Amino acid sequence: MSLLTFTELYHQNCIVELSKQVQQLTELLLERDSESSEQRAETSETCKWVLDEDGAWDTECGNRFEVTEGTPHGNNMFFCAFCGKRLEEE
Ligand SMILES: [Zn+2]
Repeated sequence: MSLLTFTELYHQNCIVELSKQVQQLTELLLERDSESSEQRAETSETCKWVLDEDGAWDTECGNRFEVTEGTPHGNNMFFCAFCGKRLEEE
């Protein structure tokens, strides 16, 4: 085996090892991404709006909104104006 061939082989092996590692890292990152997006789906579904005595709606995300007439859904509001989650009336 000439020196050149040996060097070429050595480099080829390095590249194979590197691409294996890159593949493993990519798989790890993909797993982590899918886990975190599952968690996001669990925690952020809706924002519950509760009508208080003053006729204003208390939102689950800690804000207040006064609807002049009817309910938020009756006014075509289906998403919280503050946090953007799906609006749920109680
Ligand atoms: Zn909200």
